[in-house]
This record gives sequence, C-alpha cells and structure tokens, in this order.
Amino acid sequence: MIPRFRPWIGLGELIAAFRPGPEPVRQFEEEFAKCFGAPEALSFSYGRVALWAFLQAVEVKDSEVLIPAYTCSVVAHAVTLSGNEPKFVDVDAGTYNMSFEAFEAAITERTRAVIPTHLFGRPMDTHRLAEIVRSAEERYGHRIWVIQDCAHSFGAAHDGEDVCRFGDAALYALNISKVMTAIFGGMMTINDPDVSARVREWRDRELRKPGLRKSWLRRIYLLASTVAFSRPIYGLTWFLQHRTNALGQLTDAYHLDERIHFPPDYRDQMTAVEAAVGRVQLRRYRENIRRRRSTAQIYMDLLDGVEGLRIPSQIEGHTYSHFVIAVENRPEYVRLMAQKGIELGELIQYSVPETGPYRGSAFPAPVSGVASHSLINLPVDPAVTERVARRVAMSLLDVHATLRVPGVNPKAS
Ligand SMILES: *Cc1c(COP(=O)(O)O)cnc(C)c1O
Repeated sequence: MIPRFRPWIGLGELIAAFRPGPEPVRQFEEEFAKCFGAPEALSFSYGRVALWAFLQAVEVKDSEVLIPAYTCSVVAHAVTLSGNEPKFVDVDAGTYNMSFEAFEAAITERTRAVIPTHLFGRPMDTHRLAEIVRSAEERYGHRIWVIQDCAHSFGAAHDGEDVCRFGDAALYALNISKVMTAIFGGMMTINDPDVSARVREWRDRELRKPGLRKSWLRRIYLLASTVAFSRPIYGLTWFLQHRTNALGQLTDAYHLDERIHFPPDYRDQMTAVEAAVGRVQLRRYRENIRRRRSTAQIYMDLLDGVEGLRIPSQIEGHTYSHFVIAVENRPEYVRLMAQKGIELGELIQYSVPETGPYRGSAFPAPVSGVASHSLINLPVDPAVTERVARRVAMSLLDVHATLRVPGVNPKAS
C-alpha cells in the first residue's frame, strides 16, 4: 500500500531522540528562525497552542478573529479557548485559500486578529492581504494582528519573500503528518522582537517544563510511527485504520472535530526529545521541499487538463504539503485507488462552521462546504520517488476513466 503520506524519518532522527544533547529546544528555535529568515522563533507543544498563547500574550480578547472556514478545526478551538470568537471566511474555489472578497466583507470593528492560512502549501498574495488589513485598521482606528497559519506551508513564498515575514507572526505544526516533524510540537515565528519577548515571557510563565515520562512516551511514539509507516508494515496499519477502530482511540485525544478541546498535555513546553528530532529534520528541509516540488511537477505533467479532474493552477513559491484535486464522487476514487494499492488523502473532510460546536454560526461558507467533500490529495512526501509518482498518476487516470464511462457509474457524469 502506498500511503497518503509517509513521515521522512531516518536513523539521524532516531538517534537524536535518544541523545538530544544540551539545550536542543533553544537551538531548534534559533535554527528554525534562521531557516525561514525570521528574527525569532518560539516553540510550543502543538501548533494550536502557539496561536492560543499569542492571542493571550498580546491581550486580544472578547473579539472576533477571522479564520478561513476551510481549515483544521483546531484553529477555531484555539481562538475560542483564548476567549475570542472565530469568524469564518469562505474560501476561493480556485485556490482553497481565504477569498479576498469574503475576507474584506467579514472585517468589522470587533475584528482584532486575522489568521490567513496558506493551505496545502499554497502561498496567498500577502501584499493584497496587507492592503485590506491596513485599510481596515485605518477605518476602525485600532490594530489588527495578522497571524499566518503556516502549518501546511513551511517556507512558502509570495513574490519571492517567505510569507512568514508578512504580518506579526506565523505558526507551524510539527506532528508526524506535517511537512516536517518534531514528533509533535509547534513553532511560531514573530517579526517584532518586542512582541516576541512578550509572548516568550507569557509562555515561560504559563506553560510548564515537561516531565521525563513524556519524553519516553514521545520516543515510543516516534519508534511506533516509524514502524507503522515502513514499507512492509504499512498495509497492516492501513487495515487497522480503515477496517477497525484500533487506532481511533489514539488519535481522539489529539483531535476531535465535534468538540472544543485541546490535548491533555497542551500546557507543557516542547520536550528536548521533540526539539532534537526537529533539528535533524530542519537540516533536510530544503531537500524535502525540492522533492515535493518535483513530485508535484510529475502530477501536473500527467494529470493537468484532464476533463473532470480539477487541479488548482500552480504558482511560484508553493511548498506542497498536499497535492489536491477536486473530483466528483470522491468515495469511489478512494475505494478504487485503494484496490490498486494506493491510499488517497481526503484532507480536510469538513467545513469548520458545519462542525458540531460551530454549527449554526451565521457565516455560510458554500465553497468551503463543496471543497470538504470533493478534494482528494496525492502523496507528495519526500519518500515518493519518480516511479511511485508515475504509478499514482497513471492509476488515477485509470480509475478516472472507469468512473466516467456512462452506465458503469451513473453518479460520475
Ligand atoms: C495541523 C494544523 C494546525 C495545528 O497543528 P497542531 O500542531 O496539531 O496544533 C493548524 N492549522 C492547520 C491548517 C493544520 O493543518
């Protein structure tokens, strides 16, 4: 089974997890900031915690925080748990990033922060965002904080400049499914040193040093994931995930779409074990992105322009956490590809304002709703070779042809 993603973990990461060396957290922060050209980086236990901490440290509360409707639900949870109200902005049908028109229309005098997300690694036009924010700040006479969600878009650039340099801060998520990993963990880059000092001070006061037990649990998780995603074992992992509920309990603590919550250990700071693994990953970051881009190019060459497969136009500066395609009748694509030994991703399967805690919020987001049940994503992780990419694309063409023959499947027109 070819997995929808495979974390790129080598011996270097495993050794680092058991021998983190002195002060890896501080070193990881410094190297992270340097890698993305940001003045400072602060580490957290999860990406969502960085956002939650930032809003509190700069004292945004009882306010509206604008977020895309099509994003990870934990972003809305972080906003809610910080004492604010998430306001959902519909996305653009061509890019799946926040629509500029909807964004402009959603800002009110209660808006104190916005979270532009560069979804799937695709950079937004940061100049245009800056214009909209600046004019709203003038109109309402107060500051609007801009926190980029780079959980998918490490190093994405607009107009040649890393998107993290725009606005006030950028958050990154480092769990095993992300572009690069620190087992779990999150980072935030901050552009103004005074603001950074405030957030650091808040974090060091409010969040505790993790215990020894957690370091061991992280090591075990890293080893288990490495085995679960390895070539000979992944078929079994896939089976457990899709045919049984065995792995569900593990992921529920981390992420429930229907309830506003954070994982139980969210008040911990990042562990040395995680930071040490993150440092090794950082050294391979450029190669990681280079491989993602070349796999995406193979998919474009073989699939772009095929009728019935809607692929967003490709742009400079895209760093490809995911390569997405909109299809009709997604479950059939997923099923038939699995029969060919290829797991398709279905990220993200919900529009946040349609999930439990936010249902009934008065912000319709029709495009986000459509995206949530029509997107598939193809594997682009660094372990995907040219041969695998070609096999994935050719298999998809096969499946697509089957589903589009009238009569074979009446739903695919
Ligand atoms: C993963 C993710 C996050 C948050 O990451 P955690 O580390 O799990 O808190 C935020 N935004 C998006 C778009 C993500 O995919």
